[in-house]
Amino acid sequence: MLQRVALLQRAVLHSPAIRSLSSGSVDITAPLNFWGGKRRESKERNNVENVYEPSTGRVLCKLAPCGAAEVDQAVEVAKSAFGPWSKMSGMERARVMIEAAHIIEKRREEIAEMEVVNNGKSITEARLDVDSARLCIEYYAGLSSTLAGQHVQLPGGSFAYTRREPLGVCVGIGAWNYPFQIAAWKSAPALACGNTMVFKPSPVTPVTAVMLAEIYDEAGSPQGLFNVVQGGQQTGSLLCHHPDVAKVSFTGSVPTGQKIMKTASKGVKPVTLELGGKSPLLIFEDSDLENAVRGALMANFLSQGQVCSNGTRVFVQKDILHKFVNEVVKRTQAIEIGDPLLESTKMGALVNRTHLEKVLAFVDQAKKEGATVLCGGEPFIPSDPKLRHGYYMTPCVLVNCRDDMTCVREEIFGPVMSVLSFETEEEVLERANDTTMGLAAGVFTRDVQRAHRVIEHLKAGSCFINNYNITPVEVPFGGFKMSGIGRENGQVTIEHYSQLKTVYVEMGDVDSLF
Ligand code: NAD
Repeated sequence: MLQRVALLQRAVLHSPAIRSLSSGSVDITAPLNFWGGKRRESKERNNVENVYEPSTGRVLCKLAPCGAAEVDQAVEVAKSAFGPWSKMSGMERARVMIEAAHIIEKRREEIAEMEVVNNGKSITEARLDVDSARLCIEYYAGLSSTLAGQHVQLPGGSFAYTRREPLGVCVGIGAWNYPFQIAAWKSAPALACGNTMVFKPSPVTPVTAVMLAEIYDEAGSPQGLFNVVQGGQQTGSLLCHHPDVAKVSFTGSVPTGQKIMKTASKGVKPVTLELGGKSPLLIFEDSDLENAVRGALMANFLSQGQVCSNGTRVFVQKDILHKFVNEVVKRTQAIEIGDPLLESTKMGALVNRTHLEKVLAFVDQAKKEGATVLCGGEPFIPSDPKLRHGYYMTPCVLVNCRDDMTCVREEIFGPVMSVLSFETEEEVLERANDTTMGLAAGVFTRDVQRAHRVIEHLKAGSCFINNYNITPVEVPFGGFKMSGIGRENGQVTIEHYSQLKTVYVEMGDVDSLF
């Protein structure tokens, strides 16, 4: 494990900011943009923001958002790379992508450590994120040579065929909870289909996307294949409005998704929207209780609860409620919180102070509305003095929740589990579906028929039977209702990043009506 100081220095990478970090001043912005084959520092000096290390509260570097001129440059190089990249065969594209996957494998530890430094999640989880990114790139490399159209025989010997063609320059916009993984999940299918991409990470976690850009570059991609521009709302909006952008793939909150859809509608650009959730987890009395408890913890406390698909409404059948809650509370209290770079740590820091305060306010609101806190829901100060200013809280289990409470209706995006009890299957299905969201849902039961019956009635895009939050890259992930449009992963994504051209071929004379 690298020393923390070395990690901090690497986080602002090859930058004079390293010197300012060691002298305690962080006036210099970090070169975290990437286009045309190299890292770049933004020239804009409006709205420069601090980037923090959540586990210590320390400023890592400053981030200057890209303005219109810089967005134009990044889109322009992506446009020039589109020519050569889209003309390569699927096998040739696959070779570059497989090489990128190899480099990710080699740099796994370094990328994971960067993610921990900038996001606050535990090193164990960060490694899994890096693995998921690599697997996704390998998976789509495999699919890139399978892209094919159809041949349709028509009367009189004429025929038609379809060609699956790339869209052009795609824009990817990411949330802060899985920075590196989101960049890979968006770029892999886009590149496999022959598109190029300009990616904008969240300004809260800008550090690792640029590493992916370097990796694609080192893997032998044409310059401009995968580019990174930094910034927040304004930069994102500039990208979505850009006339040379063919598609927008977004991961983030519902309100931002709505804005992006509106902007994209002006150019009638296709969008993929991976938005929020308020997912139900149904635990029936015949469940394997040990597994149900483990599943509920996975469904709520992964990544400090900052996971879109989390099953935060835990419906437990009345007869096992007491036993379930006792076991969940015992294990929640045993979760080791602290330095996310330590192997023993199970829960790191939330992403920033504002977000920590928002999550704690949700717990207070739940208490005011009559919920009972059985454990957690408080700020946590680790004993290590260097972590004293980090954004930690104790994972929380709420009982005596009602369906109309804020904690049950709104996405908290923190380590807060709301437990509700139910009596019948019919009742719980109605309550589980009573939400505008539909990202995920889970069921624990030993009754095979019930499991499938319940899943059929749950209005959610990503469902789990006897497990939770398992997202293999080979299968689609995404939501129903206000949780989004389109999917990440799986073969279906090829359709989101390509368009069909139909070609009619006449083999006889033109039979004119005129
Ligand atoms: P957010 O919506 O605040 O920001 C997401 C991204 O959009 C950021 O990069 C931001 O800079 C950018 N952005 C903001 N305004 C924009 C605009 N007008 N035009 C273009 N881009 C703009 O979300 P967040 O706080 O970063 O992430 C948390 C949310 O993301 C939660 O709601 C969570 O459920 C959701 N999320 C969903 C998935 C999924 O796969 N469904 C995965 C992760 C996170």
